[in-house]
Amino acid sequence: MSSEQLPSGDFFDVAAQLPPHEQQKLQEVRDFLAAEVEPHATGWWDAAEFPAHLLPKLAELNLSTPVQQGYSSLFAGLVIAEMTRVDTSLATFFMVHHDLFVESLHLFGSTDQKERLLADAMALRITGAFALTEPNHGSDVAGGMETTARRDGDAWVLNGSKRWIGNGTFCDYMLMWAQDADTKEIRAFVLDTRLPGVQRSKIEHKIALRTVQNADISLQNVRVAEADRFSGINKFADTNVLLRGSRLMVAWQAVGQQLAAFDVARAYTLDRLQFGRPLASFQLVQQQLVQMLGNAVASMGMMAQLARIQDTPAPDGGPGQLRMEQVALAKAFTTARMRETVAMGRSLLGGNGIVTDYKMAKIFSDAEAIYTYEGSAEINTLIVGRAITGISAIV
Ligand SMILES: Cc1cc2nc3c(=O)[nH]c(=O)nc-3n(C[C@H](O)[C@H](O)[C@H](O)COP(=O)(O)OP(=O)(O)OC[C@H]3O[C@@H](n4cnc5c(N)ncnc54)[C@H](O)[C@@H]3O)c2cc1C
Repeated sequence: MSSEQLPSGDFFDVAAQLPPHEQQKLQEVRDFLAAEVEPHATGWWDAAEFPAHLLPKLAELNLSTPVQQGYSSLFAGLVIAEMTRVDTSLATFFMVHHDLFVESLHLFGSTDQKERLLADAMALRITGAFALTEPNHGSDVAGGMETTARRDGDAWVLNGSKRWIGNGTFCDYMLMWAQDADTKEIRAFVLDTRLPGVQRSKIEHKIALRTVQNADISLQNVRVAEADRFSGINKFADTNVLLRGSRLMVAWQAVGQQLAAFDVARAYTLDRLQFGRPLASFQLVQQQLVQMLGNAVASMGMMAQLARIQDTPAPDGGPGQLRMEQVALAKAFTTARMRETVAMGRSLLGGNGIVTDYKMAKIFSDAEAIYTYEGSAEINTLIVGRAITGISAIV
């Protein structure tokens, strides 16, 4: 039996819960990924090059912020999982641009900002980034931001530096975070990267998400118009809706990462002979494949339940709302399972597990970035710990 005829990694048929039109659209996404991404993804990763030429075709899928377009939350999550399953870097580009930059325009943009930017951003004619982390402040950036914005007439003057900003080398706009130099409140701006005083340099020598272009950003007396400020954001907590959504998508990435590891490990162990038999015929190999599958299925089941909460209207008729600690548990749990899963996958490929030619090395390495970004696994664990004990162990 060929591996294509064997049961899929979606062992509990989560995708089958989607209505027919969403199943059809998900298949369209899979076909696009198989034709346009899968054959090239390892090459882009090895060269640390972003496939900018792909953006018009990616835009044709018309999948910017799917829930805003009427798709279900389960569909939105499965799209990110499928993208990650084929190329974690492409999924990360997609999430930074759509789930952080475009979503921030939907949630916080003024009528004028939306008219100027939203249609082009949704169609990937312009690209965006999310600039929060700083060289000296990662996990504690909410309380420790050093980038400042000082009001000067009808503009603001920004100074400071940011680190790790995905899409940062080439994007047209950044959602830029700064502390008001006078009031100490948090401000957010749609910053045009062509403004004088903006400098960006690519972070080199990464061992994960090499296709994603992460940048160090320096701001020196950058004048940003008041019209480019998000007037609805005055404190870090205002961003919770945004961060809750993007953190959730990172947990969906952990699902996709595990499905990828399972796909590659199963195919390899069926193909590779040792002692005259396929690796997959040995009990210890089957045990590891089953554990990988169990981890992926448990993670997917958890995410499907969160999507159900999101898609169930609240008692007041509004959209279903997740609590941050629910999302934090999902991120902490799925990424911990993912680390175990990709380590088994790496080991099942033996020496071939450490060269990108066999795909697993890329899957294994990219998992490390998922583990750390959008709040590290430890910070998300402590968010849940605070919720269930009433005691904060973060500071
Ligand atoms: C590939 C990649 C892409 C990224 N993209 C973006 C982006 O687009 N935009 C953006 O703004 N940021 C981005 N980030 C930054 C990311 O969000 C941070 O790396 C993350 O928040 C952790 O911050 P840090 O790296 O400074 O680690 P630190 O905060 O220095 O933490 C180091 C270690 O200490 C642990 N730690 C810290 N505080 C505590 C505590 N109180 N208790 C227990 N353990 C603790 C952490 O869990 C971690 O293990 C990206 C990062 C990576 C790696």
